[in-house]
Amino acid sequence: MVTYQHSFLSGEIFAHGLGKIVCVGRNYADHVRELNNPIPKQPLLFIKPATAAVAMEGVISISSAKGECHHELEMTILIGETLTDCRHDEASHAIAGIGLGLDLTLRGVQAKLKEKGQPWERAKAFDGSCPLSNFLKPDIIELQNMSLQLNINEELRQSGNTRDMLFPVLDLLVDISQSFTLLPGDVVLTGTPAGVGPLLDGDQLRACLGEQLVIETSISRS
Ligand code: ZN
Repeated sequence: MVTYQHSFLSGEIFAHGLGKIVCVGRNYADHVRELNNPIPKQPLLFIKPATAAVAMEGVISISSAKGECHHELEMTILIGETLTDCRHDEASHAIAGIGLGLDLTLRGVQAKLKEKGQPWERAKAFDGSCPLSNFLKPDIIELQNMSLQLNINEELRQSGNTRDMLFPVLDLLVDISQSFTLLPGDVVLTGTPAGVGPLLDGDQLRACLGEQLVIETSISRS
């Protein structure tokens, strides 16, 4: 079930050309610590292709062939204008929507890739690795003061607030645009707070961005 209050773009983004998904790793200090990683001096970026995106609604199917798959709940930014080497005011103007997403991560696969110093795409960019919610209009969102919560089977697993981002959203967009031009239809995932863990078959998820966006889904692992 998806709560559509104040929202738009449910599914439209899939019909009208979702672009790339730029993800930010290690953007909340408590999550950096839980995985024993160093605090980054500049944003850690990686990209998921459009083929990674699925709607964050109903049942989310995740193959169990490649082992443990962790949830990382993140605030998402839908880009509405082209941004190349942009300023903060241009970045602000280009935000077309705000939503929730899951940066699904095959944690065992990622650990092996990290050991070998290899890129993370096999662990993070696979088909279906990025469930995305519908998007809210940005004017009802206080970008750097939104609570972010994930309940699984009615137990609170992830809880954070966007005020605790190491790199706030506008800084991220400016930084990203210095390496990758952002185009309308691109989505940015802004990092996850602490509490990541494995998703199991039958898990019932309730993800919240403040009180404005509440998404309920379930997990199928086969
Ligand atoms: Zn993430």
